[in-house]
Amino acid sequence: MKSLVWFRADLRIDDNPALREACKLSDEVHAVYIYSAMQNEEHSEANCKTEFIINNLKLLQESLDELNIPLIIFDSEGFHDNPKILLEYVENHSINNVYLNNQFGADEEQRDKRVEEHLKANRINVHTFDEKVVFAPGTILTGDGRPYSVFTPFKRRWIENFNLDLLDIEFAYTQKKPPSLNSNFSEFNFNFKKSHNVDMSLWPAGESEALLRLNTYLDKEIFKYAQDRNDPIIDGTSRLSAYLASGIISPKRCILEALKINNFQLDSGEKGVVKWIDEIIWREFYKNIMFSFPRVSKNKPFQEYTNNISWRYDEKEFQAWKNGKTGFPIIDSAMKQLESEGWMHNRLRMVVAMFFTKNMLHDWRLGEAFFMENLIDGDFSSNNGGWQWSSSTGTDAAPYFRIFNPLTQSKNFDSNGLFIKKHIIELSDVDKSEIHDPSESTRKICNYPSQILDLKQSRLRAIEAFNRVKNT
Ligand SMILES: Cc1cc2nc3c(=O)[nH]c(=O)nc-3n(C[C@H](O)[C@H](O)[C@H](O)COP(=O)(O)OP(=O)(O)OC[C@H]3O[C@@H](n4cnc5c(N)ncnc54)[C@H](O)[C@@H]3O)c2cc1C
Repeated sequence: MKSLVWFRADLRIDDNPALREACKLSDEVHAVYIYSAMQNEEHSEANCKTEFIINNLKLLQESLDELNIPLIIFDSEGFHDNPKILLEYVENHSINNVYLNNQFGADEEQRDKRVEEHLKANRINVHTFDEKVVFAPGTILTGDGRPYSVFTPFKRRWIENFNLDLLDIEFAYTQKKPPSLNSNFSEFNFNFKKSHNVDMSLWPAGESEALLRLNTYLDKEIFKYAQDRNDPIIDGTSRLSAYLASGIISPKRCILEALKINNFQLDSGEKGVVKWIDEIIWREFYKNIMFSFPRVSKNKPFQEYTNNISWRYDEKEFQAWKNGKTGFPIIDSAMKQLESEGWMHNRLRMVVAMFFTKNMLHDWRLGEAFFMENLIDGDFSSNNGGWQWSSSTGTDAAPYFRIFNPLTQSKNFDSNGLFIKKHIIELSDVDKSEIHDPSESTRKICNYPSQILDLKQSRLRAIEAFNRVKNT
């Protein structure tokens, strides 16, 4: 039997159910990746993420070559031409089984539905799998069969339903029949134009790199995760998000390896391990929210009353936020981290998103898009979930009247200002006593801007804006 595996955000061999099942049942396997610069632009994919994906595709192609599976890259104008590309390929190579792993998001689901209909109408079998989550989407439900909209009970049910068989992912691949064609990777022109300033040496490509990162993290840092995870200068988190977002490593692999160092206990034992697995469950929670409440992937807030909020728009403030020139060192250093690393520490993502949507009272959708355009780990459901949490428009969100004070956050989580100094060179000589909020004279000397807004007044303005729509 001949099969085709359609790779998307699952660029790996390990724990890849579509590839595994195709290899189990077929003696000849082909692989396809459909590349579309236009589609990436439409979905605000970051330029650094595209480069990361291209680097990973190269290594994926080499691993597939060893199994005699040719990886063919196609150029596409967008999701709409995918059914045609795939049908032509399977017809030209007399293939009648297509394997793929599901993706989340309304556009992706609609594309896959059209692909499946088109292929099935031409007597091609389509086999789909879930590898982004441990439980199939929409199957973790409340007692009366409804999807959860609050994380803690979702997690409780997730743990109740869990058993180790779900992590039965080991599979020994063997070589397929030598293919009748070779991968076109080296001739394919991605026409990639670099427009980012990210230090890509922070993000080495390949699944062996992802696995090494996981194992190194599980060796030591994870045991201090519960206390270190909020301190951006310590860098006490795994930085696996870029690899998870593009599918260079699977969440099941992460959980399985973490459980191995915790006597297979999910909610007891090492605090750091339990807390870290919690975060992977958060990821799954947001994927379920996107699946069960599709409005959140169509630019709509989860809390429908927040549709009526009158967001402000001020071009100067927006530019100051984007460029790390708000005059609040913790916000500006976080935005500089985003620019130079394509990644931002989780605590700071919450701080800058809350500042943007509450103090600046700007629409969360603008911030969400800017993050997607710049994050190497851009993940539609986690990013949307994070922005809607911070702006109090989402499920299980921060109450709208509890607004982080960026200066307090700065003192609590960067007490010596080392993170600020690392990312804002102009402030590198400023004394610890004023690093969180330099005096006007220090700002002048350092050529660092004044604050773009008044924290107290802007906080009240945000609460009023929410009160107005909450009470109507
Ligand atoms: C406004 C905002 C936007 C965000 N955008 C994204 C995004 O585009 N992509 C993304 O992967 N995460 C996003 N997050 C979640 C979180 O900030 C990152 O997953 C985390 O910082 C990644 O670093 P890490 O790999 O070192 O995480 P670790 O702390 O090591 O956690 C392990 C893994 O768990 C998952 N995870 C951790 N925290 C969260 C969380 N709060 N929500 C969902 N999953 C989580 C990630 O996959 C992460 O790699 C966002 C959070 C906020 C507040």
